This record gives sequence, structure tokens and C-alpha cells, in this order.
Amino acid sequence: MKDVIVIGGGVAGLIAARSCARIGLSVTVLEATGVPGGALGSHQVAGLTLDSGAESFAVRRNAVAEFIADLGLTDEVVAPNPAGAWLQLPDDRVPNGSVSVPLPKAGVLGIPGSPLADDVRRVIGWSGAWRAYADRLMPVMTIGREHSLGALVRKRMGRRVLERLVEPVTTGVYSSAADDLEIDVVAPGLNSALTVTGSLSGAVLSLRSAAPAGSNVAGLRGGMSRLVAALVADLRHFDVEIVTDAPVTGLHRAGTDDAPTWTVTHAPAARETGGPDEPALEPEPTLDARFVIIATPGAQALGLMADLSPAHAALVDLAWPQPTAIELATIVIDAPELDSHPRGTGVLVAAATPGVTAKALTHVTAKWEWLAEAAGPGCHVIRLSYGRVGQDSPTARLSDDELLALSLHDARTILGVDLDAAAVRGFARTVWGDALSPATVGAPERVKQVREVVAATSGLELTGAWLAGTGLASVIPDAVAAASRTRHDALGI
Ligand SMILES: Cc1cc2nc3c(=O)[nH]c(=O)nc-3n(C[C@H](O)[C@H](O)[C@H](O)COP(=O)(O)OP(=O)(O)OC[C@H]3O[C@@H](n4cnc5c(N)ncnc54)[C@H](O)[C@@H]3O)c2cc1C
Repeated sequence: MKDVIVIGGGVAGLIAARSCARIGLSVTVLEATGVPGGALGSHQVAGLTLDSGAESFAVRRNAVAEFIADLGLTDEVVAPNPAGAWLQLPDDRVPNGSVSVPLPKAGVLGIPGSPLADDVRRVIGWSGAWRAYADRLMPVMTIGREHSLGALVRKRMGRRVLERLVEPVTTGVYSSAADDLEIDVVAPGLNSALTVTGSLSGAVLSLRSAAPAGSNVAGLRGGMSRLVAALVADLRHFDVEIVTDAPVTGLHRAGTDDAPTWTVTHAPAARETGGPDEPALEPEPTLDARFVIIATPGAQALGLMADLSPAHAALVDLAWPQPTAIELATIVIDAPELDSHPRGTGVLVAAATPGVTAKALTHVTAKWEWLAEAAGPGCHVIRLSYGRVGQDSPTARLSDDELLALSLHDARTILGVDLDAAAVRGFARTVWGDALSPATVGAPERVKQVREVVAATSGLELTGAWLAGTGLASVIPDAVAAASRTRHDALGI
């Protein structure tokens, strides 16, 4: 009998496991895939170790910095190139043309603080800018709060701001349309600043002035996956067992409310069956524990809890949004023309931009100096991402060669540089498919209902981005809090 079983070895699960093991609880982590880390993955492309998922963290809260310090990695924290991002938009003047412009600086999620500023007018034109400026003259609804980011922007600043400034940002960051995003989740404080300042642009300026100076994000020299390596080393030190290739298939609770016991069933790890081609003859292995922390994405967590009680089963039927699959195409290429960083650190692409299928491009060697040094002169890493909410994946059916051709075509259009296919040194594709977006309208209410049911289930905790919010700055404190409730129940501390 273990003290704690953690289901899911993403960053939330690993952090929860560490927090419990540090005070002497015996912990096992069961991870479905062959490697721990979840969306903090890495891969080797053309001899370079690159992040295959998250590549930075938000510095708006101290949570990540404190955690990084605790792992002894503070000296490895690096700021990105401050050049900033660009936008790729339909060109109003050229039929079927597109145009690249810098993303205006003084905004929140693309919403401009100064609608008539030069860099805003370059994106939405004079008529769009005047329409956005009308926000300053409109009264503010003081009863109730706004929920949908898209509806608010459309109402106060008009369609041009929504389609050419805000949508590219929300699609890039949340893979969601602005209409579907809950304001209080994606822009905390915006609603109340709107009431205080009397306009949306005023609210944006007030949030911007309250934010600390400097970049909003930071990274780690060598990539964010170093965080996972450091966590795993720490977990070994605390004798935590991490079982990989072990997707959990069942969760059963016995005992009393005061002293519950849990039985967790998982598919046999590959090494136990002799390999993926050999059918498992053994029954599925089970593990027993006093406490369980579920740290999988939402769909799996809800599925695992569904048999516990009717109240748990009912959570599956809440109006969860359909997950959007994202596919990343990473290219390592010899292209000295990119040394000048023609589009800053990357480009967000507006929907319906002619000739471009990608929704975003990161010029990774422009963004991170350590990687440019590792790649060497003239060698560049670019990462394109595909998949928009509510649309079929544009890349799922493509062969590797077809996806490489499409991503090179998109990169040429976006970067304005002629990239030679023969100069490609390496290419990789990565699919991220099963995250429930935690930022959609109604999310706070759904999350509250889930947390209430779990809080009434003794011995069970739940954590992860689908509850806490996307990104390490939200995930880390939530995982620490879940573990500290378990520690309290286990040891009274
Ligand atoms: C492409 C991409 C880019 C991102 N960029 C950034 C960024 O720059 N900055 C930032 O802060 N955040 C970024 N994020 C978000 C951030 O990576 C996530 O919010 C965070 O890593 C989520 O951690 P998690 O542990 O909650 O979930 P996950 O990382 O999804 O981990 C869940 C784990 O559970 C496992 N699992 C699933 N089902 C089972 C089962 N039945 N049994 C056992 N295990 C199971 C999965 O295999 C997985 O390892 C990005 C995400 C993606 C996909």
C-alpha cells in the first residue's frame, strides 16, 4: 500500500508527487506515455535538443520563478529577444494577398490601449481606428459582468479590432476564438478596470501600467524541458517510483470516508508484456494507496472519476468544449537570410489569411539566444503551428513530406524569405490533441462544480491545466495546493 498514487506524469503530476514525497510520503506516479513531462516535452531535431511543447513561462506571478529557484535553476533563466511578435493579415488592397505588420505594443490580448496610435492604424486602418476610438464615448454597463471576450471587443471597438488584432492572439495562445473565451480567465482584472475607467481602451492602459516592466515571459537556457529533467532527478532522490507506458484504466474506492483506500488499475507497462506487439496475458496490474491525485488532462480525469458516484458521473455531462488538436511542424534549416530576424520572434496569423494555412510561426532561434548559439551561424529553427478551433485539422492527413512542403511554403510567405527545401537539416511533427481549453465561457462555473464534487471525496485530489488554467504560472500553484491538501490529510501538516 502506497501513501499516494499520482495519475499523470505531466508537470502538474510531477510537482504534486514531489511535494508529497518531500515530507516522507511514499509516492508512485503512473504515466500513460513513454516519458514523463506531458506538454513540457522535448525532441532532437538535426542534433539540437528542442522543446516540443511549452517553451516559456509567464512571469506575471512569482510561482514559476520560486519553483525554478527551488530546483536550483535560477541561473539558467533567460529573457527572450524583446523584438516582439508580428501579425499576418489579409491585405485589403491586394485580392488574395496577405501582409505582415508588427503587433502593436500597448495592448492586452491584442486589444489596443491607444486605438489611434500609428502601430494600431497600420493594422486596422483609419476607419477601424475611429470605430475603436468610439469605445471612449460609449457608456459602460455597470450591472453584471461581461463574459465573452469576443462579444465585448466587437461591441466596444468593432469588427476590425476583433478580427485583425484580437483573434490572431487568442487563436495563437488559447487555440480558441475570442467569442468563446471567458474574460475573467484570460484577462483577469479587465472587467473591473472597465467599470473604473469607463472604456475598454482605458481598462487596457490601466492593466498595462499595473504590469511589471520588461518581458511577460522567460525561458530556460537549454529549453523548458530541463525543468522536467530536474524534477525527475529530484523525484528519484525522494524514492518516487515513476512508471511509464502505464495508462490508468480504472479507479476504485473502498474503506470508509475517514480512511478510504484506493485501487488503481493500469495497462501493463510495455516491458511487462514484452513489447507492444505481444498481447498482454496477465490481468491489468493494480496498485493500492491511501490517497490519489489525478493530474491527467480533463477528458481522462472525468472518465476515471465517472464510476465513483452519480455526482462524479454527472460532471462528464457539463458543457465541456471540444478539444482542438494542434500540430507543430519544426524545421531546422540553413538560411542566413533569417539572421536579420525579419519578423521579430514570430508571427500570429489571422483567420482567412490567403495563402497561409498555419495559425502561428515562432522563429525560435530569433527568440532564444542560447539556441541561436547552439545552432551556429546561418542555421535557424522555425516552428509552425496548425489547427484552429471548430475546424478539422488541416494537417492530420498529410504525409511527413507533404507537411514539410506546406510548412516551408507558409514560412516563405510569412517570413518573406525564399527558403530552399534542399537546405532543410531536420524536420519533426508533434501533435498535441487532448487538452480541454480551460479558458472558454462558463469555465469558472464548470471548474467550481468539479472542485466541489472532488472536495467531498475524501482521499482524492485533482489538478492540472484543465482546472487551473493553461500555462505553468497557473499549473504550478494549483499542483502545490492539491499536494498540500493531501499532505494535510495524510499527516495533519
Ligand atoms: C504546444 C504547446 C505549447 C505551450 N506553450 C506554453 C508556454 O510557452 N508557456 C506556458 O506556460 N505553457 C505553455 N503550454 C501549456 C503548458 O505546457 C501546460 O499548461 C502544462 O504543461 C500542462 O501540464 P499538466 O501536467 O496539467 O498537463 P499535461 O502536460 O497534459 O500532462 C498530463 C499527463 O497525463 C498523462 N495521462 C493522460 N491520461 C492518462 C492516464 N489515463 N493514465 C496516466 N497518465 C495519463 C499524459 O500522458 C500527460 O503526460 C503549452 C502547451 C502546448 C501543448
